[in-house]
Amino acid sequence: MIKEDKIIKSLKSYEPVIWFNEDFTAKNESEYGLEDIKKAEALLDRFKVFLEDSFEFKGMVESDLIELKGYKEPYKVFLKADHALPISGSIKARGGIYAVLKYAEDLLLGLGYDIDYKNISQYKDVLSNYEIVVSSTGNLGLSIGIISRKLGFKVKVHMSHDAMEWKKNKLRMLGATVIEHQSDYSQAVIEGRKSLSENSYFIDDENSVDLFMGYAVAAIRLKKQLKEMNINISKESPLFVYLPCGVGGGPGGITFGLNLVFDNVHCFLSEPTHSPCMLLGLYTKTHDKYSVTDLGLDNITVADGLAVGRASKFVGKIINSMVAGISTSSDITLYKYIKRMTSEYNIYQEPSAVIGFKTFDDVIHSEYKEEDIIKNGYHIIWSTGGNMVPDNILHKYLERGYYESNN
Ligand SMILES: *Cc1c(COP(=O)(O)O)cnc(C)c1O
Repeated sequence: MIKEDKIIKSLKSYEPVIWFNEDFTAKNESEYGLEDIKKAEALLDRFKVFLEDSFEFKGMVESDLIELKGYKEPYKVFLKADHALPISGSIKARGGIYAVLKYAEDLLLGLGYDIDYKNISQYKDVLSNYEIVVSSTGNLGLSIGIISRKLGFKVKVHMSHDAMEWKKNKLRMLGATVIEHQSDYSQAVIEGRKSLSENSYFIDDENSVDLFMGYAVAAIRLKKQLKEMNINISKESPLFVYLPCGVGGGPGGITFGLNLVFDNVHCFLSEPTHSPCMLLGLYTKTHDKYSVTDLGLDNITVADGLAVGRASKFVGKIINSMVAGISTSSDITLYKYIKRMTSEYNIYQEPSAVIGFKTFDDVIHSEYKEEDIIKNGYHIIWSTGGNMVPDNILHKYLERGYYESNN
């Protein structure tokens, strides 16, 4: 049983909380290291021409770092614009695309091909004999579906009940098979694992090292971006990063990478009050033993990308000593941030993508560090999705944002 203390009581009553991790040392105690991230980066480089040609954009699958001037004086606040990542418009473009490319490369090498990276489309026929299977609340399926179909793979996506209709339709249009489950995300993963045949490969969001490393590449890229902007991270002006968290792979991979490439970084995760699975897992040190439904929570949130009841144990164990803390947010608060970002900055995001703003607010109003350190620090709010959301749906979020801001 879970001991009923102050934090657990708040979680059980959907009350927003902030938790600071007593085990935060920033030390890497895992078997993985910077070499693993660099390997992932090198693979993405090999496929750069293929990605550019297939999806008609120039450069890397990378997002801008945007300064949000005047967001909250005197703090230096930036937005990491993964809501506008090329190819699939969410943070899942990082892990998902990498994981599929890695599988395709391993497969082709295993079949004896001397891969011509300038002409990847010639392998479509070969790859069409293989199937990629994934379980998703929406965005992972989208990311993996888009890249897999482009390479020629068959695709099967197991969607949890939270998945939005438009995401399923988009996948069907690409020729993917969408299997709709009435269950939550964890159950959709179990169903996905069960559905495999001889030539299918399951990308396991709860356990995939590839997904994790694909996400982690963001850290190396961010370090370069800060350098280009002449921003110097130091003990006196550390980096604070706020990352929306579902099962943990995306924010966990980035947290892992950032702790390896920066000396003074404080990574905070953000979760909905209805789905605080990573907080439950790290705080009780039981990882995936309990689901938020064991606390009596419903795991239903407008932040569909974060609607996960049970955290990844694989990720939790790696980031255990690398996460500075976690805070939770109600759905209503998310609508307000959507409204503010749209009306003041012309930036369009989905509900999951704005939750880091809440954790930023929580941290600056806390006694986490001396006031000067927080004021001199650089605060990066990681915006994780939105670019592909249809206008009519964005409009609904926004309407609700105006309503909630005025009531
Ligand atoms: C998936 C997702 C996240 C969180 O990533 P996890 O790997 O599930 O923790 C955050 N934001 C959006 C928009 C997502 O789709």
